[in-house]
Amino acid sequence: KEFAEVSIKDIDQVAKSSFPLCMRHLFEKLIEDHHLKHGGRMQLGLFLKGVGLKLDDALAFWKAEFSQKVGAERFDKEYAYSIRHNYGREGKRTDYTPYSCQKIISSTPGVGDHHGCPYRHFSCVSGYDSEENLRAALSRMGVNSGAMENVMDKVRNRHYQLACTLTFESIHGSSFDAGINHPNQYFSDSQKFFKS
Ligand code: SF4
Repeated sequence: KEFAEVSIKDIDQVAKSSFPLCMRHLFEKLIEDHHLKHGGRMQLGLFLKGVGLKLDDALAFWKAEFSQKVGAERFDKEYAYSIRHNYGREGKRTDYTPYSCQKIISSTPGVGDHHGCPYRHFSCVSGYDSEENLRAALSRMGVNSGAMENVMDKVRNRHYQLACTLTFESIHGSSFDAGINHPNQYFSDSQKFFKS
């Protein structure tokens, strides 16, 4: 797969224009709380690696947020390792790949977690978030009210990837025959759309 390269100065802008909802939610929570639990750090961290964020930029990005909460020293001690690990620079040196939609949809976030697929987990996990939150998040992304009902209809029928595809179509104003099966595919197709 071809992924465009993204540097740290572009992240805010591409998060708004081209992140799928699962990643946009994690990104916003990270900026808000200056922290994400393990599941969120893995899901967003590997996605960012997939969009072409280099290791040094990834370390700077996570440190800028986490150090506001836990301090720079604790970040270096407790969190930097797992980021280098995701990039295959520690431990067994496995080069981990970003999670697919299927893997994200079948994950089981608990209270206080922000990973998972919002189309599934915003409205289904008790004590997590409600359908209202999903509608609010979709309208912040720019989904219009007509498309919103179609998206919610797919969600109710548990067709989460189709709901995500309809969101893509509504935001980009173009049809998308392939269907979404990977957050990095959503990203690269969105970037292609804006750059063409
Ligand atoms: Fe993310 Fe895939 Fe869910 Fe879309 S369908 S929000 S890309 S996990």
